[in-house]
Amino acid sequence: MKAIRVHTFGGPEVLTLDEIPVPQPGPGEVLVRIQAIGVNFIDIYFRTGLYKADPPITLGMEASGVVEAVGEGFTQLVPGDRVAYCMTRGSYAEYAVIPAWQAIQIPDSLDFESAAAALLQGMTAHYLTHSTFELKPGHTALVHAAAGGTGRLIVQMAKMRGARVIATTSSAAKAEIVRRTGADEIILYTQQDFQPEVKRLTDGRGVDVVYDSVGASTFDGSLNSLRPRGMMVTFGNASGPVPPIEPLLLSQKGSLFLTRPTLFTYCATPEELRWRATDVLNWIAQGKLTLHIEKVYPLAQAAQAHIDLAGRKTTGKLLLK
Ligand code: NDP
Repeated sequence: MKAIRVHTFGGPEVLTLDEIPVPQPGPGEVLVRIQAIGVNFIDIYFRTGLYKADPPITLGMEASGVVEAVGEGFTQLVPGDRVAYCMTRGSYAEYAVIPAWQAIQIPDSLDFESAAAALLQGMTAHYLTHSTFELKPGHTALVHAAAGGTGRLIVQMAKMRGARVIATTSSAAKAEIVRRTGADEIILYTQQDFQPEVKRLTDGRGVDVVYDSVGASTFDGSLNSLRPRGMMVTFGNASGPVPPIEPLLLSQKGSLFLTRPTLFTYCATPEELRWRATDVLNWIAQGKLTLHIEKVYPLAQAAQAHIDLAGRKTTGKLLLK
């Protein structure tokens, strides 16, 4: 089968289209014939070596497809079932083996592309808004990179939960998209220092929570945008990883909470995974949550998808086929 792999860490040019054997499912695993592949920023972190794995690495965490074979000991899926998943690396390929409990059955009303676009970013937005900081009416959230794949879903879920959303993005064209997504206030953080603007928009108080996926370039401003005892959720490194900080800083800025969550610890059990996946897929099927698939690239053009994502050119989900 064909697979996009990394043999040495580096830029998009290190991605190679290799011919490798089709993997076989062991006990408790399933083999999925892949129909559509979700591209995520985490794929870039594995390509550059920021996130650790031993090469050769088949990239990609997310896909949808058809169950081709079921390993021993798992009876809830049969060949032919339509499934999607997002927590096992190796999806930039024609087939992938995953732990069977991670396979989510796709509702009949959803096509493979929507299913491959929904889970990773959708369940991330779900755990951030429903669990890490449980948004309620009366809360104000600051959401960075709000025109991005994950950002657009966080904005929608924060509004579903009744919160006020202050969003940041880099251009007027992206700002228009964020406005249509439902954000209450939008700051162009490339043209304006967002921290005083957040303070102005909250009458000097600061926000209850910051959802910050940008990392290095926004971290300090995000801490300064919080109300006393507010929560800083740093969940990504699009501009680079956040350097170490002194815990005393959190006390000086008003007894702040700081967390660095990952999807994996918020979908650690089959029950929690199913709760989040079912909510996300149902909301999409019911039209309560809107997915925006920006572009579908052939598998062999994965490098171009990485260039576009890292180059801030995109405003939604990228897929490979
Ligand atoms: P996005 O579609 O959001 O793309 C990244 C966006 O980040 C860009 O479009 C850009 O938006 C913004 N950005 C700001 N500074 C930079 C920079 N220097 N270089 C590149 N982009 C920059 O990607 P994803 O939705 O795939 O992922 C968003 C973030 O969420 C990533 O950091 C990812 O790691 C994180 N994430 C974390 C998870 C977790 O569980 N911890 C799970 C899922 C995603 P703009 O032009 O508006 O500034």
